[in-house]
Amino acid sequence: MSRRRRVYEGKAKVLYEGPEPGTLVQYFKDEISAPDSENKATFEGKGVLNNRISEYLMMQLNQIGVPTHFIRRLNMREQLIREVEIIPLIVMVRNVAAGSMTTRLGIAEGTILPRSIIELYYKNSALHDPLVTEEHITAFGWAAPQDLDDMMAMALRINDFLTGLFLGIGIRLVDFKVEFGRLWENEQVRIVLADEISPDSCRLWDISTNEKMDKDRFRRDLGNVTEAYQEVARRLGILPEMGPRTHGPIAVG
Ligand code: C5P
Repeated sequence: MSRRRRVYEGKAKVLYEGPEPGTLVQYFKDEISAPDSENKATFEGKGVLNNRISEYLMMQLNQIGVPTHFIRRLNMREQLIREVEIIPLIVMVRNVAAGSMTTRLGIAEGTILPRSIIELYYKNSALHDPLVTEEHITAFGWAAPQDLDDMMAMALRINDFLTGLFLGIGIRLVDFKVEFGRLWENEQVRIVLADEISPDSCRLWDISTNEKMDKDRFRRDLGNVTEAYQEVARRLGILPEMGPRTHGPIAVG
């Protein structure tokens, strides 16, 4: 088979030219890396699970009117997406203190935040994705004030929806990050959700045991990385061969 042109290769994904203009194929790798790519590993099947999980979540978000780049899943590891111009920002939403918030602000992991907090980071790996303010973003033209308002409103809507969705399957959505892109349609530009939403980009804790079911299993060397991602997929009901959803605690530790 003639190989498509590779447009971009990141830590966990590859983007190939799509079958039609304005489309790309997003390929999910088994590789995982953290922090800042110094620590790398491969977990067989992780890419397949993230492809499925991200497909499911993007489709659910589409259904409630959140525009996304997702078109359809093509196979085990690939999905067809719309080509967008990625806005160089990481939009993070936090519900519970964890990760960099605990070290930066000295808040104990697991503290429920008084309200959901959005953080904005400049997407630049050479600079280690620094935390920035709206002032930096608009002054340097990374996004217009209206774009930023749209992204923050969408991020909160995504948070509300995903918090409820995960709660229904016994999982607490601690925090997550999203990326957005500009999509040209005729003469109009629209901001749409891009990239992926998966246990690589979210913190997910079992509601009753607080067991981590996300990339922190790798970051903190807790083991059972693939098993935890598999359990998320199983509870979402997207691994039908593994039985129906259950709400009980899990044994990933
Ligand atoms: O490490 P930190 O606490 O800042 O991460 C917050 C959330 O954003 C976590 O869910 C983490 O997995 C995600 N994240 C990410 N990609 C980054 C940085 C953070 O997916 N480059």
